[in-house]
Amino acid sequence: MKVLVINAGSSSLKYQLIDVDNGDVIAKGLCERIGIDGSMLTYKPTGGDKHEFKQDMKDHTDAIRMVLDALVDPAIGVVKSMDEIDAVGHRIVHGGEKFAKSALITDELIETVKELSTLAPLHNPANLMGIDACRAIMPNTPMVAVFDTAFHQTMPAEAFLYGLPYEAYTELMVRRYGFHGTSHLYVSGRAIAKLDKPVEETRVITCHLGNGSSIAAVKGGKCIDTSMGLTPLEGVPMGTRCGDMDPAIVTYLMDKLNLDRKGVDTYMNKKSGVLGISGVSSDFRDLGEAAAQGNERAQLALNTFAYKVKKYIGAYAAALGGVDAIVFTAGVGENDRNIREAIAGELGYLGVELDREYNQNCPRGEEVEISTKESRVKVFVIPTDEEMVIARDTAALAAK
Ligand code: AMP
Repeated sequence: MKVLVINAGSSSLKYQLIDVDNGDVIAKGLCERIGIDGSMLTYKPTGGDKHEFKQDMKDHTDAIRMVLDALVDPAIGVVKSMDEIDAVGHRIVHGGEKFAKSALITDELIETVKELSTLAPLHNPANLMGIDACRAIMPNTPMVAVFDTAFHQTMPAEAFLYGLPYEAYTELMVRRYGFHGTSHLYVSGRAIAKLDKPVEETRVITCHLGNGSSIAAVKGGKCIDTSMGLTPLEGVPMGTRCGDMDPAIVTYLMDKLNLDRKGVDTYMNKKSGVLGISGVSSDFRDLGEAAAQGNERAQLALNTFAYKVKKYIGAYAAALGGVDAIVFTAGVGENDRNIREAIAGELGYLGVELDREYNQNCPRGEEVEISTKESRVKVFVIPTDEEMVIARDTAALAAK
């Protein structure tokens, strides 16, 4: 079964065509600057050359049309007609409490996702634009929604509740939801398969460290806690997001800096995190280079990030009652060897023994074990593959 996976943002749209039967990615690419001057489609069939098409895309429907045109193009395409695309899987950021699993897209589902836009005002409306565009062009193709929040719906109330009046939860939906669920699900599943233990006895901590970062505690294959909250602003400091802080800081900053609601939102979401601390960059590669050249604030940003991740690991080891494996994934987790060392190199008290040399020299883009043979807790680097999870869920639901 061939599944088109769509990850639609407000002005961009990533796509992959995946053959679920053998797990092959057939083609993939990106539409950029949708609705803005200078729109561009990149398209790369597996094993073939990358193509760039600069053409106006006034909306997501134009973007999807261009993607499909490229996929069926007689010269560079990978399918003869659109009919070969059996189903479309859409990434949806916020599923609230309504969706603990992926679901077939119906008018009712769309209405619910619209209602949940209040919790994800930047993401859900953009995701819906991707759905609307595909439904307009491929009205008879089954479509499935895969939610970033779904994997975390198994969290118990003591983990998802904030210390606010209970009505904030029951009447206003204020609780921890968690994000990056598809990634945590995928990498925890891969790690569990490598452990010599029955699934129900496994305790895994997954560290999705990228531009946005979150940590999850996974017991018996189910999420029991995660660091992101009502929104993806909570948890460790990220590229530009502040992460955990005293909530009183919000009104203090509004007063002192004369910021309105939007201003303080931008301050915490776009100007904070490792960018804010370093004053250099939100990109960990830039920070690593600057720190190596003696930039102390870049080093401080990296140290702060590693320290907060380490603290979450300790907290989740307590929540899990011990830990069998720690997983690093996403842009930073998969690539930044020094950050991994700064985190996993200091967890000896938990029974983690990092193979420092192998951590520095292991291949990239592969699943590797970076703990020593003697280490009681295994440490893995596992490249995440959210698209594959979306494709598989889509195929399973569409086949029904
Ligand atoms: P993601 O959000 O998962 O795409 O991760 C993006 C982040 O990964 C970038 O902002 C970089 O900071 C980081 N990254 C990617 N490659 C490397 C690398 N080779 N070394 C350090 N950090 C990297």
